[in-house]
Amino acid sequence: MIPTPTLDHVLRLECLVCREQYDPADVDYVCPEHGAVGTLDVVYDYELVASRLKRRDLRDSHDTTMWRYKALLPVHPDAAVPPLSIGWTPLYRADRLASALGIGEVWVKDDGRQPTASFKDRASAVAVVKARERRAEIVTTASTGNAAAALSGVSASVGQPNVIFVPESAPQAKVAQLLAFGSTVLLVEGSYDQAFDLCMEAAERFGWYNRNTGVNPYMTEGKKTAMLEVFEQFEGDLPDAVMVSVGDGCIIGGLHKGLTDLTALGWIEAMPRLIGVQAEGSSFFVQAWENNENVLTKPAAPADTVADSISAGLPRDRIKAMKAVRDTGGEFLAVSDAEILAAIPALARGAGVFAEPAAAASYAGLVQAADRGIVGADDRILVMSTGSGLKDVPAAMEAVEEAGVEPARVKPELGAVEEALAAR
Ligand SMILES: *Cc1c(COP(=O)(O)O)cnc(C)c1O
Ligand SMILES: [Zn+2]
Repeated sequence: MIPTPTLDHVLRLECLVCREQYDPADVDYVCPEHGAVGTLDVVYDYELVASRLKRRDLRDSHDTTMWRYKALLPVHPDAAVPPLSIGWTPLYRADRLASALGIGEVWVKDDGRQPTASFKDRASAVAVVKARERRAEIVTTASTGNAAAALSGVSASVGQPNVIFVPESAPQAKVAQLLAFGSTVLLVEGSYDQAFDLCMEAAERFGWYNRNTGVNPYMTEGKKTAMLEVFEQFEGDLPDAVMVSVGDGCIIGGLHKGLTDLTALGWIEAMPRLIGVQAEGSSFFVQAWENNENVLTKPAAPADTVADSISAGLPRDRIKAMKAVRDTGGEFLAVSDAEILAAIPALARGAGVFAEPAAAASYAGLVQAADRGIVGADDRILVMSTGSGLKDVPAAMEAVEEAGVEPARVKPELGAVEEALAAR
């Protein structure tokens, strides 16, 4: 691999454990002192960024992708970016959900609308730019499915060879995406955590560019673009709290990084509370939060939930996720699989957004937060919907069955239609 070209707006990489600083030309992944737990943060020269990125220019920009924030991303200004249209996902106001829950305002940002249908495209786009900057022959990741589909799709858009590790239990739609995009797919006979460890070993042995969450410091940077969009979409007047589902913790850490950037640029004064939602069956952060445990030494928790995208026994972006919640006065909540499944039709009917289980979990978290009085009538709440319902059709079918809805079977005759409607 070749050395990274100097990016003048990136000052350094900083270890979140020991605060040691590294030159991005010397270190690609974690802090050499701390290994896997030594997640690095990208530190910018905000004065230089501010001289290149103006609110006025953003307002006038016709770039409806995440690359409208290129001056605030860890890539060279002249770097070619993948052609897929990633980012600038829609934000919807959901008044019926707000009144049903007794909340001031509810908004839904639909990242199921990304090219490969999940939030992960934001991170994988940066990974592919970095891999090509490094002239990597192969880029690799382990994933519960969506990060894989994202890396696979973005790689396909530029012809970048890649090797993907997913647990064999990954939903079929996600595996189909990988195969269609032409990745080398390794279905690991084990959990996501095992797939992750295997991918790490392979990347090291074969010298592949490694996209893995919590290891690659740049994934947070791609994910932060969602918050930069939220800032623009709300015209600078951010909501009071953001509900976001949490597995490895990279998305919530990314949203916090976006807020940190906005603060450093002087564009916001206060941060919304970031409320992380986990599944009861995979609730590492909720346990750590409630029991005040050290996430660097806490052993893996069980990981068993219908929401496969947030099934992570040992979350890989632990430090950034905990910091996101702590620094914003937020909270970690756990929702049951039944609550997650119920949230799929509730969000679909109330806002017209069809979410996969892990994405609907954000909304399930809002239902619980409203119930517990964590949010209320004075609050404006943003729900991040992180992936499309088409990612996991069997789970959606289970959800509607649980909700007691069934289609009526009719003979192809009008009389049968009348009978069926009368029977409803
Ligand atoms: C990955 C993912 C999440 C969780 O993101 P983390 O960074 O792992 O916390 C939530 N929802 C969906 C749909 C995802 O794919
Ligand atoms: Zn360190």
